[in-house]
Amino acid sequence: MAAEQPNVTVHLRHVRENVRQIGRRTCVGVIAVVKADAYGLGAKRVAAAIAEEVDGFYVFNLAEAVEAELASLGKPVIALRGDAAEANEFIAARVRPVVWTAERAASLRSARPILAVDTGQQRFACRAEHIAAAIAAGKIDDAFTHATRIDQIADFAALTDAYALRRHAAGTALLDEPSARFDAVRPGLALYDGAVTVTAPLLDARDSRGPAGYSGFEVPRFGLISAGYSHGLRPGPAMVNGRPTRILEVGMQTSFVELAASDRTGDPVTLLGDGVSLTDIAPAWGCSPQQVLVNLCRLGNRVYVD
Ligand SMILES: *Cc1c(COP(=O)(O)O)cnc(C)c1O
Repeated sequence: MAAEQPNVTVHLRHVRENVRQIGRRTCVGVIAVVKADAYGLGAKRVAAAIAEEVDGFYVFNLAEAVEAELASLGKPVIALRGDAAEANEFIAARVRPVVWTAERAASLRSARPILAVDTGQQRFACRAEHIAAAIAAGKIDDAFTHATRIDQIADFAALTDAYALRRHAAGTALLDEPSARFDAVRPGLALYDGAVTVTAPLLDARDSRGPAGYSGFEVPRFGLISAGYSHGLRPGPAMVNGRPTRILEVGMQTSFVELAASDRTGDPVTLLGDGVSLTDIAPAWGCSPQQVLVNLCRLGNRVYVD
């Protein structure tokens, strides 16, 4: 039955081209955020494909870095957390931990910790009044903030200008903001945008006999695909046979798609890529493009092309 399942195709060359474009656009190095299995694309494959183009990698926790074998790629790796991991575990994994208190900076000092500065998120980041102590305690030479607004960038600059630090701040949201660039940018989503195609074959295509589904939607013709809300799908835009269409209603494991007279069982419905972008889908889902990407990548088995 595998042929009924959605296909998730990851275009590694497109990820690589995104990295190059970001580098040209920002004129600084790129620290590639490959947390959460590279937003669903697969951290090991993605990281290997872009290792030569990036200044380093960023993950949420140490286990992710180990799992994806990031250290073997020869670029610096940053992990926000390591649960109760101690300095020697970070050193053994060749991963630099993030710190946000003087105490944590001191205990992880030998692992060359990186300071996260709080500019408003109020999580995993150092408050202004503790920055000097943390920098001294950890012999810190690298600092960042996780920000989405320009006023946060100004705060970060003011809080860190007095120290000799490599600094990075901009994720995808602030890539076009020169003041947010410092010594490197740290995007996630922008690396993956446009690099994934998700399609699902029509299990069935039929002319409607009246109100259909749970919601009683009414369209002349519809079909079903093998993906539902238990897999993370939601109603929104799609494409079929080169035409825009809609996922009308999402059930537990299957969903209804609006069709035209010429659409047939077996035809592929495009859920992402080829005319359906993350930014088209996100408003329909009422969530971020990052969340759309992570959910859609989970719908089927990943296939890589380069
Ligand atoms: C997730 C994350 C990013 C990347 O965010 P995007 O908006 O996807 O570019 C950058 N920095 C940190 C600390 C993050 O946690």
